[in-house]
Formats: sequence, C-alpha cells, structure tokens
Amino acid sequence: MSNPNETKPFIPHIAILTSSGMGHLTPSFRLAALLANNNCLVTFVTTHLTVSLAESNSISSFLSTFPQIISRNFTVLPLDPTSVNSTDPFFLQWETIRRSAHLLSPLLASSSPPLTTLVTDMMLASSFVPATADLCLPNYILFTSSAKMCSLFAYFPTAIAAYDSNEKPDIFSNGIHINDSLTIPKSWLPPPLLDPTHLFATQFVANGKQIIESAGILINTFEGLETESLQSLNRGNIVKGLPQMIPVGPLAPCDFERGQGLPWLDNQPDNSVVYVSFGSRTSMSREQIKELGNGLLTSGYKFLWVVKDKKVDKDDEDGVEEIVGHEFIEKAKDKGLVVKTWVDQVGILSHQAVGGFVTHCGWNSVVEAALCGVPMLAWPQGGDQKINANVVESRGLGLWVESWGWGGGELVKAEEIGTKIRELMINERFKIEAAHVKEKANNANKNVRALINQGL
Ligand code: UDP
Ligand code: UDP
Repeated sequence: MSNPNETKPFIPHIAILTSSGMGHLTPSFRLAALLANNNCLVTFVTTHLTVSLAESNSISSFLSTFPQIISRNFTVLPLDPTSVNSTDPFFLQWETIRRSAHLLSPLLASSSPPLTTLVTDMMLASSFVPATADLCLPNYILFTSSAKMCSLFAYFPTAIAAYDSNEKPDIFSNGIHINDSLTIPKSWLPPPLLDPTHLFATQFVANGKQIIESAGILINTFEGLETESLQSLNRGNIVKGLPQMIPVGPLAPCDFERGQGLPWLDNQPDNSVVYVSFGSRTSMSREQIKELGNGLLTSGYKFLWVVKDKKVDKDDEDGVEEIVGHEFIEKAKDKGLVVKTWVDQVGILSHQAVGGFVTHCGWNSVVEAALCGVPMLAWPQGGDQKINANVVESRGLGLWVESWGWGGGELVKAEEIGTKIRELMINERFKIEAAHVKEKANNANKNVRALINQGL
C-alpha cells in the first residue's frame, strides 16, 4: 500500500467495503480503526439497509466514534427473493449487495483525495473485484473466518468443477481432499454447500474463484493460532497462484464496543464462571435451550448465559423468562445470570472471573477467546463453525464433541453438557495453552500495527 515514488508524506486512502452480519461488520470496523489510527485515511462503505438492529446500531456508534473516517452510503437495488434458493436474510443481503456492484465504481471514483486501495469483504469478492477493476486500484479481500476455512474457500471451486450430477451424485462422500495433509470431511462442510444450487453454495464458489484475482488476502488470524494453515496457503499448497495471505489478527476491539460492565461478574471469584453465547445470528430450539439450561445447572459452575431465540434480533420478542422458563430462573438464582441483550463479549471474555467459554465457534468469537486466553467448549451450529472448532481443538484451546453434530440436529442432553463443561473448566492443559496463545496474540497485534505503519 506504500508508494515509493512519492516524495511528500504519503497518506494511503483505503476504502473498506463491508457486507452483512455482525460476523463481517465487526472485523471491518476493527480493521478500519486499525488503519485510521495508523496514519491511513479510511472511507467506510456501507448500505444503510441492514438486516439486524445490532448492525445498524453498531454502524452508527462506529461512525460517530471515528469522525475522521469518511462514510459513504451505497444504495443497493432490490432483490427478488424468489429468484434465489435461500431464505436466510443475511445470505439474501450479501446477494443484494453483490448484484449492485456496478453502482459502486462511480461512487468510489469521486473520492477525494483519490483512493489508493480497496478492501472488499470476502462475500462480495466475485462481483466487486471485477466491477472495480476500472479504478485500477489494488483490491484486497478481508477474510473474516479462519485460515483453515480459507483453504476450503479457495479450493472448493476446483472440487465443484468435478461435479457431474449424473455420474457422481455425491462428490463429497469422501470429503474434500485438498492435499495430502488436508481433507475436510463431508460432515464439517457448511451444510448449504451440499446443495450446489443453494445461494450460499453459488456465492461460495464464485467468491472462492475470484479471490485469486485480488491483490492480497487480509485475514483475521495469526501465526500463533494457525501456523500450518497460513504456511500451506502461502506456499501454494492449497491453490497455486493464490495471492499473499496477510494475517492481521487478532483484530483488536474498538473502544465503542465497550459495554457498561456487569456488577454480577465483578462479584465472582477468578476463573469460576462459564460464559455461554452462540454469536449474533444463531438461535436454538426451546427444547435445546432447556437442556442447555439444565446442563449449566448440573455442571456445578456459575454461568453467564446469553440467550437468543430468533436469528434476527428484530424478531426476538419474548422475554428471557418465557424462553428459559420460570422454573429455571428460580433454580438459577444463585448460580448464574441469563440475559437476552447484546453484551460486550470481549469485555466478558477478558474479565478475570471468566474461566471458560461455550461457543458456536463463529470465527470472531474464537479469535476473541484466543486474545483473552479463555479455553473453549466448541459447539458448532452451522456455517464454517466445525472447521473453526477443529482449529480450537487441534490448537489445544479446548474441546469439541463432534458427535453433538450441528445445531438443530439431535438433541444434546443436559447431563452430557454438564459433564463437558466440567471437563472444560477443570482441564489445566487448556488453561496453559490458552495463556500461551494469548501471549502470541498480543505479540501478533503489535506486529500488525508495525506492518501497517510500514505500509503493509
Ligand atoms: N457479539 C457481541 N455481543 C453479543 C453477541 C455477539 O459482542 O451479544 C459479537 C462477538 O463478540 C463477535 C461477533 O459479535 O465479535 C459475532 O461474530 P462471530 O463470528 O463470533 O459469530 P456470528 O455472530 O457471525 O455467528
Ligand atoms: N463463509 C465463508 N465463505 C463464504 C460464505 C461464508 O467462509 O463464501 C463463512 C462465513 O464466514 C460464515 C459461515 O461461512 O461464518 C456461514 O455464514 P454465516 O451466515 O454464518 O456468516 P457469519 O455471520 O457467521 O460470518
């Protein structure tokens, strides 16, 4: 991103184009803040129409905390939802933005001072990398999941090219064999990928193909967490000709993300509390919520549980008591805190009272737990989360009970949940490894700042 021919101090002007969902917005904010705090001018491009309240609230907070960041609103064209094979509002929003790509170039071309670099969210690569080619700017991809997931993302178009519905009805039966040391089992694949006509699958293939044309891939991970995957990607062992992977993680949280604190947590002993959350867009069945609640009670540990009843927060109308039941609230009185609001997750994970995290393994959650040195019980619910759970387990940061399957599958019983939580909280090896990775995370964070100051 540096310009060696400039004699005047060179200030890069970087446009960041984000997509939809907190799992994508949050790392975009953090990257924007990192660049803006390290001598770059940043233009942040959003669509004002968001799926969730969490997204619109955080965009407003982000922009008001960073008045030096230029905000550009990108008006998208409406999408006919019957024209695509998915009803997931976040996937539909990605598609809506993708199909409006041709409208972005004129908006960016009018930037003043002129842009020097673009950064495009991974879910928009297929249409925005070509649509902005006329601007002749280096276009980097922001990859918001793990390097292991990036290996699948980059390789999957090759695998799918072999698809022949007549002769090979199940090309996935032996998993995706990427190279001699990496095969992704079929059961780990994001479920929508198993149907090549699914909107998610078509986006995944198109985006995966396109990243090869980008200037580089900024990824929210770090050497100390995913050494091997980063090496394989950068040595051409996954896909030949893949641009450089630039680990920029762990992307540090911005000040505006800080919450007010939880006095309940302040009163708990060190390492005594299990934090339970499944991210911003995963809801569980009431039946599974009941088992989880009872599992927490039988674990014998105190807990802080963020309950989510609906995928999109605007639809989440029932109160916490209605969801978990009055009986549970009574039993949990001295044992835990159950909330149904947006919480400051990094604030919680970095609190000394928290000793373990039951997580769906959304990649941001994994990186945040790594940054805070908190061991995890991985309970993947969908998407890239089994691949991320494998990273957690193989890095020694916690445990994953593979037989629990995806969320919405077989009911996982309270007793088993309680047993695994005890294993998580007791195991000293997880604590030692998590402390070790935390140290590496903090060092990686310093290195990224230095890298940006040198012009990436
Ligand atoms: N998050 C939060 N408070 C909440 C729920 C989520 O701060 O109450 C944040 C969490 O810290 C993470 C992001 O939202 O940064 C969720 O991203 P992740 O990749 O973990 O999961 P997703 O929500 O995309 O499934
Ligand atoms: N994903 C991916 N490549 C794609 C589409 C999605 O790696 O082309 C990942 C994405 O980061 C996401 C998961 O697969 O975590 C499934 O999407 P989801 O809607 O859960 O997004 P999230 O909000 O969790 O990032």
